[in-house]
Amino acid sequence: MPVNVTTFIGVCVMLPLVVLLGVWLYEEYWFRRRPFVPTTRVMVQCDICLHHFFCEKDVRLPRCPQCGNLIRDTHA
Ligand SMILES: [Zn+2]
Repeated sequence: MPVNVTTFIGVCVMLPLVVLLGVWLYEEYWFRRRPFVPTTRVMVQCDICLHHFFCEKDVRLPRCPQCGNLIRDTHA
């Protein structure tokens, strides 16, 4: 069966696009079905060394893991 060159090039271009579209739709479908889980941690920046880290919301004076500084206001 002879295959036209234009048809062959069209298939070679369209097939990866169709596969990518399928992967994208599949990922989008599973991303929207994933339940939202609120976190209990907040991101805090150290005043001295400017290191960012996560700590629990109910901790009053979190300690910087890099320099050991106590951070006062974590809810600003
Ligand atoms: Zn620090």
